[in-house]
Amino acid sequence: NGGAVDAKNLRVKLVLLGDSGVGKSCIVLRFVRGQFDPTSKVTVGASFLSQTIALQDSTTVKFEIWDTAGQERYAALAPLYYRGAAVAVVVYDITSPDSFIKAQYWVKELQKHGNSDIVMALVGNKADLQEKREVPVQDGIDYAEKNGMFFIETSAKTADNVNQLFEEIAKRLPRPSP
Ligand code: GDP
Ligand code: MG
Repeated sequence: NGGAVDAKNLRVKLVLLGDSGVGKSCIVLRFVRGQFDPTSKVTVGASFLSQTIALQDSTTVKFEIWDTAGQERYAALAPLYYRGAAVAVVVYDITSPDSFIKAQYWVKELQKHGNSDIVMALVGNKADLQEKREVPVQDGIDYAEKNGMFFIETSAKTADNVNQLFEEIAKRLPRPSP
C-alpha cells in the first residue's frame, strides 16, 4: 500500500486536502523544515517534499508529501492528486466553519473514490487562535470518530502537535507481513 520498501522501512504517499488558506503548506513546512513563515505565498502548482521519521519499534516511515494548490478550486482534478495515496490529511481552520464543512466534503470524496485502505486524518489547524475559535473541538472529535479517522488539532505557527500528527499517522499504517 503506497510502496512498502520492506517490513521495517515504509514509504508512503501522503496528500493534503482542504480549503485554501487553512494552513496545509505551513503544516508541511513546519514538519519538514521546522519553520513557519507568516508571509509565505500561496502554493503555486504542486510542491513535493519528503520527510522520514523513526518510530519506537525501529521502523522508519518516509512520507512523500504532495502539497498542491488547485485541488481546492478544481475539484475535478482532485482524483488525479489523491490516486494511490496511502494517507490523506484533511485540514480545516478552527476559526472557519466554512472550512470545516469543506473538510467534510473532502472526507466523503475520499470515501467514494480514494484507496479502500487509505488512512485518513482530520486536522483542525490554527489552534493557537483560541480566541477566534468557531469550530468546537468536540465537533472535530465527533466527526472524525463517526468516519473512522484520526483527529488532532495543530498549530503550524507554534508547532503544537505537528510532529504528533505524523507520528500518529505512521503508527496507523498497514504493515506488510515480515
Ligand atoms: P494553504 O492554502 O492551506 O496551504 O494555507 P497556507 O499554509 O498557505 O496558510 C495560509 C495562511 O494561514 C498563511 O497566512 C499562514 O501564515 C496562516 N497560518 C497557517 N497555519 C497557521 C497556524 O497554525 N496559526 C496561525 N495563526 N496562522 C496560520
Ligand atoms: Mg498551500
